[in-house]
Amino acid sequence: MYPSTLLFIDGQWSKAVDGADLPVINPATEETIGSVARAGVKDLDRALEAARKGFRVWKSTSAFDRYKVLRKAAQNLRDRADAIGPIMTMEQGKPVIEAKMETLACADVIDWFAEEARRTYGRIIPGRAENVHQLVIREPVGPVAAFSPWNFPINQAVRKISAALAAGCSIILKGPEETPASCAALVQCYVDAGVPAGVVNLVYGVPAEISEYLIASPIIKKISFTGSTAVGKHLAALAGRHMKRATMELGGHAPVIVFDDADIGRAATMMAGSKYRNAGQVCVSPTRFLVHEKVFNEFVDSFVGHARSVKVGNGLDSGVVMGPLAHDRRIAAMMDLTADAIKSGAEIRTGGERIGNKGYFFEPTVMTNVPKTARLMNEEPFGPIALMQPFSTMEEAVEEANRLPYGLASYAFTTSEKRASQLASQIETGMLTINHLGLALPEVPFGGIKDSGYGSEGGIEAMEPYLVSKFVSQMSL
Ligand code: NAD
Repeated sequence: MYPSTLLFIDGQWSKAVDGADLPVINPATEETIGSVARAGVKDLDRALEAARKGFRVWKSTSAFDRYKVLRKAAQNLRDRADAIGPIMTMEQGKPVIEAKMETLACADVIDWFAEEARRTYGRIIPGRAENVHQLVIREPVGPVAAFSPWNFPINQAVRKISAALAAGCSIILKGPEETPASCAALVQCYVDAGVPAGVVNLVYGVPAEISEYLIASPIIKKISFTGSTAVGKHLAALAGRHMKRATMELGGHAPVIVFDDADIGRAATMMAGSKYRNAGQVCVSPTRFLVHEKVFNEFVDSFVGHARSVKVGNGLDSGVVMGPLAHDRRIAAMMDLTADAIKSGAEIRTGGERIGNKGYFFEPTVMTNVPKTARLMNEEPFGPIALMQPFSTMEEAVEEANRLPYGLASYAFTTSEKRASQLASQIETGMLTINHLGLALPEVPFGGIKDSGYGSEGGIEAMEPYLVSKFVSQMSL
């Protein structure tokens, strides 16, 4: 059974004041499976007041007590992964096994931030006189407004909520309207762990209406957004107008550089698995494959073999590796981008078509000979499309990797230590993983540069945006 989702404000689940809601659609069947409450201004005012009150309570809760509550929330999430998995699959489309793995991995994220809560150290700066004591104290920035998307309904929300709570902030999360129930199940884990009323609030509605209202409110002191670069730039501008801190985790167009000294079969297997995970709707999804000309055909053939073997279907069915795209906008985008690439002269090596006409299924796709002017070579596909081109020199590969304004994730395969370290210094990227898939663990930084945004949602860096420094200089008399 798929549950309908309410708003969570001031410790209570409730309908919107005006009773409005939005439908939730299963992307595998296109059936309406439930609804999500749609917040209006009165609901947002309640959420703001709750966050203001919750902040006072939570800020004065000791770091050790916050740690204990967060650890309980992590355990709740772990215990509920089996129940949450199918709910996420019904609303988002990904295979149940991926949904459960996401849920379990997110329990580890909460644990990490719980531990960090206890390490928000300040410092003592030596005074210029013996009786002067100079302290730097780290304090929570204040109530946070966060906006999380539908591709990882729990993972995108958990990093924002957990970092905010670890620092001592309260939060209003605008969750993903397409995939509300699994995000609500996450919030319930914090609530059941003992987070006081008003500290975590969850709303849904019309994204632009909610963000404009919350960001402008003097109660909100920081925002965090995950989504497209276009929306991120708009929200960053709004945040700037109201002097609010912002963390922006935006789009990418990840390059993958494969050298001729790499284990080509291993690289193709690993990258095909990564490309088609969550139907390519992943901000760090590998997209532009730059393969040394000597091994280009071998790599493409191997990758195409993997793409053809991916079982596509309803994520609830056993053996399915790739589910549908999450909503109709993505299927329309895949068809437009593919048509543009074909018109520009691209060669489809496999895939390239919608599957059937019920459910938002699209074939795992590989293209070669895609000109740099094609939209796909410039816009984030956010779908199951891999683009492959040969290179002859490392300089050429690095130039292409750095050509786009994005700078989120990058991948490389080489057994040369020298090349690996040259890439580490030359690729313009927030994250680079060489010879393996090493991104997105709770303890490592996660974020981009250039148009991919700023701030980090992992590692010790992730706590920084939620903290302010207060300097106290005291003379003992
Ligand atoms: P979109 O740009 O309309 O929305 C992306 C996300 O931003 C959604 O969660 C949406 O609810 C939210 N959003 C949109 N306008 C907003 C506003 N004014 N205020 C607050 N939130 C707002 O696109 P979409 O069709 O939902 O998704 C497609 C694109 O979004 C993709 O091409 C991809 O680049 C990007 N995206 C990125 C991530 C990521 O992990 N970085 C996740 C989801 C979507």
